[in-house]
Amino acid sequence: MNAGITYTAKEAVSKLKEGNLRYISVDKSEGDISPSKRLKTCAEGQTPYAIIITCSDSRVMPESIFSAGIGDLFVIRVAGNVIDNHQLGSIEYAAEHLGCRLILVMGHNHCGAVDAVINHNPEGYIKFITDEIKKAIGDETDTYKACCLNVKYCMKLIEDSFEIKKEEEEHGLRVAGAIYHLEDGRVDFL
Ligand SMILES: [Zn+2]
Repeated sequence: MNAGITYTAKEAVSKLKEGNLRYISVDKSEGDISPSKRLKTCAEGQTPYAIIITCSDSRVMPESIFSAGIGDLFVIRVAGNVIDNHQLGSIEYAAEHLGCRLILVMGHNHCGAVDAVINHNPEGYIKFITDEIKKAIGDETDTYKACCLNVKYCMKLIEDSFEIKKEEEEHGLRVAGAIYHLEDGRVDFL
């Protein structure tokens, strides 16, 4: 884990919080998506300041939520923000080769994947996702509490996979959790 680090985990959390505050009060996304930024990041490569693992829900838009632009966030999206080896591989790549020090697992309220575990009986490939969420939430029937449990479970999986205590001490890598609120755009860090 020796790529050039642009932001520490603490700085990245502050940047995300500031970006979210701006997002809550504007009508349009504030991230830099200009042609010049596009050209610059194409020529010089990417140095995103955070890794975000979040749900595929179309109402959850990570770059917009954090007022981020091209090259700012390394985003991994999958329904229910579940973690498997593909997600871990993506995290490892961003941490080792792009210098990201913050891994943020961001669930959201009214998550359909979590709701499916509690109130429905999913079949087909969806079951691969809901089985994973079931491990996280157990018998919890409150959807919001279950969303929080799911985030914490995903955080633990990542922490265990990368021996995060050691990584934190040696390389400043940190895992954080948050819940995005669909109705007002607020991100609560856990
Ligand atoms: Zn969701």
